[in-house]
Order: sequence, then C-alpha cells, then structure tokens
Amino acid sequence: MDMENFREWAVKCAEWGVSYRELVESRPVRSSVSPGEIRVQLPALPPEEGETFQSIFNDFERIIMPGITHWQHPNFFAYFPANAAPPSVLAEMLVANLASQCMIWQTSPAASELEEVMIRWLGKAVGLPNHFGVIEDTASTATLGAIMTMRERAFEWQGNELGLSGLNQVRVYASSEVHSSIDRAIWVAGIGQQNLVRVPINGENRAIDVDALRHQIVMDQRIGMLPAGIVICFGGTSCGSTDNIEEVQQVAREFNLYTHVDAAWAGSAMICDELRENWNGIEDADSIVFNPHKWLGAQFDCSIHFVKDRETTLKTLAIHPEYLKTYERQNFVDFCEMTIPLGRKFRALKLWFLLRSYGLKSLREKIRNHIQWARDLSQRFKNEMDFELVTEPQFSLFTFRYHPEEYLGDLDELNQRLVARINDAGSIYLSSTRVDGKLVIRFQVGQFDTKRHHVMQAGNLICETARRLSR
Ligand SMILES: *Cc1c(COP(=O)(O)O)cnc(C)c1O
Repeated sequence: MDMENFREWAVKCAEWGVSYRELVESRPVRSSVSPGEIRVQLPALPPEEGETFQSIFNDFERIIMPGITHWQHPNFFAYFPANAAPPSVLAEMLVANLASQCMIWQTSPAASELEEVMIRWLGKAVGLPNHFGVIEDTASTATLGAIMTMRERAFEWQGNELGLSGLNQVRVYASSEVHSSIDRAIWVAGIGQQNLVRVPINGENRAIDVDALRHQIVMDQRIGMLPAGIVICFGGTSCGSTDNIEEVQQVAREFNLYTHVDAAWAGSAMICDELRENWNGIEDADSIVFNPHKWLGAQFDCSIHFVKDRETTLKTLAIHPEYLKTYERQNFVDFCEMTIPLGRKFRALKLWFLLRSYGLKSLREKIRNHIQWARDLSQRFKNEMDFELVTEPQFSLFTFRYHPEEYLGDLDELNQRLVARINDAGSIYLSSTRVDGKLVIRFQVGQFDTKRHHVMQAGNLICETARRLSR
C-alpha cells in the first residue's frame, strides 16, 4: 500500500467509524448469524497476489459486519460493558500508527512516563493515592501476576527457582463468587484447583464469610498447608457479589496473607466519592485490578493493576536479560518488569485522552445515572407480580427472573427461552447466569450512550416478551 492509498483509506476508515457509531442503534445488538456462516464465505487459502483495498473493504462490510455483535449499542445490557469512548478511540488510531513497543523506558520514554502519571491520576481518582501500578491488557493477566506474587511470597521466592514439586502445598482463598480468571491463574501458577479454597458466602452482598475464612485457614495450617493469600471479590461478574474488604484485610493481617482485589468491573465506580465506602479498607490491599475498558470508557484493552509494594511484584516477575538493560540512566520505570508479557502497547495514551476529554465529573455522572436507572428498573421487576427480583442491584447490575404464578413447567427452561427470544429479536441484548442454582437473567446498565429511556423500554420489552411466551 503506497502512502497515497494509505491516506485515502485512513480517511475513509475514520469516516466509516464515525458513521458506524452514529447509526449503531439501528442495528440488531447481537449478531444473528449461525455458527459457521462467516467461515464458509472465506477462502481456504491465503491469496498469492495482493488485492485492492477496495475489495478487502467491501468484504469487510459484506462478510464481517453481519457477524459482529455491537458492544457500543445503547441497548447492550449483557455481560459487562466494553465502552470505547470516542477520545479513547482517537488515541488508539494514533497508537496504531506509532506502533511502539513500550516494554522498557527507552523503547518509548513518553509511554512509560505517561503511564506512571496515569496510574497516579487513577489512583487518586479511586482513592488509592499510595499504590503504584501498571497498565495491563486484561484483568486475567493482572490476576495471574498477583497469584504468582502471592505464591512466591509464601515460598519466600523459591518457587520460580526450584519449581513447585519439592515445596509445600500453598493455599489461596476466595468466595464462590470470584471470576473464572482466578481459577485459571491458579492453574497456570501451578497451585492447582484443589488448593483454591472456596469459602461460603453470606448476606445480601453475597460476601465471603470471614469466620468461615478464618476457620479454614486455621484448619489448613494444622494439616501443614501453606496459606498464601486471599482473592477479594469486589463486584462479581455473575451478580455483583462484594466482599467486605476491611474484614478480609483483618484476616489477612492475622495470618500475614497477601490480598488481591478483583474489581475488574466495579472499580470504575470508585471515582464516585459516595460509593467509596463500599471498598473501605482498600488502602491495605496488596494488589487490586480494575478495567477502565469496561465501565470507564477506555477502548479495549486497558486494565489497571495497582500494587501496594512494588518490590514484592518485582521480586516475582522482574527479569533482566542483558539485551534489555539500560545503562547510564536513572529515575525511570521499565514497566515490563511488573507484567507477564514483555511486549506492551502504549495504553496510557487513551486514558490521558479520555480523562482530559471528559473530566472526572462527567464520568461520575454517567456512572451515577447507570446506577440510578438500574435501581429504577429493578424496582419495576419487584413490583410486577409475575417477575421476581433475584438479587438487588450491586452498583448497576441486578438479576431477575420470570415467574408467573400459575406456571407449572421448568422455570429455568422458561427463562432460558425468554433470554433467547429477546436476543434473537435483536433490539436489546441480555445474558443469563445462575444464582443458588436458579437460572436468572442479568441486567446491567453501563454503556456510555445508554439513556434512561433505553433502560425503561428494555423493561417493557422484557415484560411483553415474557407474557407472550408463557401464553
Ligand atoms: C470482566 C471480569 C474479569 C475478566 O476481565 P478480563 O479483563 O477480560 O480478563 C475478571 N473479573 C471480573 C470481576 C470481571 O468482571
């Protein structure tokens, strides 16, 4: 591609992006293609000869677009949001062109120093002024780093050196509500699923039962296990379960355990002062992850991993091959020492653009609105006789299910059918989960272009579809 061609298409792609965002609401939220439908339209072999960009772009629109689910659609209420606010998209366009590798300071000094400042800005914004941190791709990566740190700290930094086979069995504790990325981190860190101890939950927040936690740790110590750390659930993915951080930190202090807080989704809401009490005790947490790429508006991927003591992480993950050394310089950070991947995108730029363009005030306003609208809609499901609010809103997520009084069939099956019917129709998108064994429907408000009327109309649509279904 020559530069003239590049210029023409750079402009066209940018314009395409703007129109896409302007008109996204007119599209069905979830793609309606069947499995394999996209694949069969693609040639089996890569081309030998280059093709014109026009023909590539035509195929993008013709073949790819029908198979896209629209996460920037204001009627996206499934999973969690993956907001890509326009200023962060513009930053990504610049970053795609720079294409710098930001592993060490000298491979892009501005990226490294902007990253330091963005970590500090966000730390202040969410009430973590004393934590250091690093920007990662995803919460899963940050959690793996934290679990490895937990393990190495318990082993006094022998695991990386000796391997795990000769060492004691470490144990990590978490409630049943933590994300599957914790399990995977436990597998990859060589700790083993059976050493991830699931502690029961209690209360409306479905929080880890700290007495049961304490009891479990004591029992494990008695049989010669090595308790290493606790993963704290802050806004769980299924229904927003939230542990009492202060109480868990107390247990961690008693047993000298490392803590990692998974706040991937709900962490963004901590920019709102009035919500900050939900994470009282957070300043004592050793490690915290939250994803600005979910609720804060930073184009995917962008996950912040805060750590209280940088040295603990460095002792676990830093490695200094000769070919990555910087001589004769001081007072800089090589961020790759704190992460598992070496190569790193310039992710700080989109945070800088985002935070400056919106300002914290308007980001707070968005989050407050989302929470209020979720509360309003949850109230409706509480009032409708044939619906059941299963879990109260945690931030902007609640779960409910359709439960007509006279219905004799299987309620799980009925609700599964309801979600499928709604998603097939395409005007809104929902997902489901299980709460205490029951299949329930999740509803979260968090897409940046969502307005109150979208949420309320979604409520109408759910009620109408449900009643037609059971008739
Ligand atoms: C989304 C989510 C994750 C996983 O996030 P990735 O960035 O996709 O790895 C982990 N924990 C919670 C609570 C989440 O909501």
